[in-house]
Amino acid sequence: MKTIVWFRNDLRLHDHPALKEASECGHVLPVFVLPDHTSPTAADWWVYESLKHLEQQLFELGSALTILKGPASKVLSKLAKETQADALFFNGQVDPVSRKEEVDLLELEALSEVDIQRFPPNMLLDPSSLKTGAGQPYKVFGAFWKSLQQQTIPWPIAAPTTLKSWFQVYPATIPLEQSGLRSSIDWDASLQEEWTPGETGSFEHWANFRDKRLKYYDAKRDFPALNGTSRLSGFLASGNMSIRALWHSVRNAQEEGIAPQPEAFLRQLAWREFSYYQLFHFPDITERPLRSEFLQFPWLDDSEGLSAWKKGMTGYPLVDAGMRELWETGTIHNRVRMVVASFLIKHLLIDWRIGAQWFSETLVDFDVANNTLGWQWVAGSGFDAAPYFRIFNPTMQSKKFDKQGAYIRRWIPELAALPDVFLHEPHIAPEEVLVEAGVVLGETYPYQIVDHSAARSRALDAYALIKGRKEGQA
Ligand code: FAD
Repeated sequence: MKTIVWFRNDLRLHDHPALKEASECGHVLPVFVLPDHTSPTAADWWVYESLKHLEQQLFELGSALTILKGPASKVLSKLAKETQADALFFNGQVDPVSRKEEVDLLELEALSEVDIQRFPPNMLLDPSSLKTGAGQPYKVFGAFWKSLQQQTIPWPIAAPTTLKSWFQVYPATIPLEQSGLRSSIDWDASLQEEWTPGETGSFEHWANFRDKRLKYYDAKRDFPALNGTSRLSGFLASGNMSIRALWHSVRNAQEEGIAPQPEAFLRQLAWREFSYYQLFHFPDITERPLRSEFLQFPWLDDSEGLSAWKKGMTGYPLVDAGMRELWETGTIHNRVRMVVASFLIKHLLIDWRIGAQWFSETLVDFDVANNTLGWQWVAGSGFDAAPYFRIFNPTMQSKKFDKQGAYIRRWIPELAALPDVFLHEPHIAPEEVLVEAGVVLGETYPYQIVDHSAARSRALDAYALIKGRKEGQA
């Protein structure tokens, strides 16, 4: 059999059901279809690097990657015709845009002679398999997690060891350098220093975390200065790493005594699963709040506030450190992600979808399910979300989770010489302390763009307006 394997956000060889099945059925043509958007994002940079790595891996297996551009259904059906392929295999995705691509492909008459098969997405379980006793999708994480723990997670599938081709000359491909995934301006230099995308990079990164830090995950995960989390999200978002393989590796590490109690880490993997699960069952949540009363929320149009937030110039050191970390490294520690998102939504009353959009452009680990649910969780508009009236105080969060200020000093060097006691709130430091530390408020570092107490009352007033309202009510 001659099978086209369509690579998507599964840029790896291990536990790749579509590739494995195709390789066992005969000849394989691996294909990637480029996204159709205009300016490259940080996640596109990750995909670019992953494809570079995948090309090399496929070459070593005796194969080659064909890169195409255009609506997937159109270019894949054309390719199938030109190459006289018998089959087209791919792993499914759960986000609405990708699912639409799948439907378009399956509906194409031109492919009627071709055996099209969809294999499971990069999830622990089939999202339609877990339901409440009443047969409904879970809406509460606790119940979902309990049910997940009772399931058997399928074992990952081994990578193929060789790939047979049916070509002397491969179909025309777009060279990676011309893919448009990388910006022509050199803004990704800091990402290059920070990350090694691709399957091999993911294995090395995981092994390092497993051996040195998994054991301390629960104790350190909330402190951004401690490098206590895995930083695997980029590898998972692009599919460099299979979630099932990761799950079983964690269990192995537990059995081998490397990390005797990995439940806190597994629980975070379950949050990822829950986000994918919710996006699968409620596909319009990338645009719509899960709680309909939030459709009426009186968001503000505050371009100055938004710009200060994006640049890390709000006058709240923890918020600013997070937004600068995002710009430099393409990621933010989870605790700080919650704080910056809360600041945008509750202190500035800016619509969470605007923040989610900025994250989609700047995160290397951008993942439509985790990002959407993360923002809806902070906004309070998700099913099992933080209640809206629980408003993070960024200064208290800073004192609690970055007490000695190592994280803030790293990302806001202009505040580094301030004593710990004023680092979290430079605006209350006495003039002589500021002078001594070389800080000139309003010049070297901004004044707070909003006062916390005033912002808090304003947010609560806005919430009172929608409280108790349901969709359709004025
Ligand atoms: P670890 O703590 O080591 O966790 C391991 C893995 O579990 C992560 O790599 C991730 O895949 C998953 N995970 C951990 N926490 C969560 C969570 N709260 N929700 C879902 N999955 C989780 N994560 C993304 O992968 N992409 C995003 O675009 C994204 N956007 C977010 C936006 C907001 C506003 C918030 C609050 C969270 C967002 N998250 C996102 C979730 C979380 O912040 C990151 O997954 C985590 O910070 C990644 O760091 P890590 O790999 O070191 O995580």
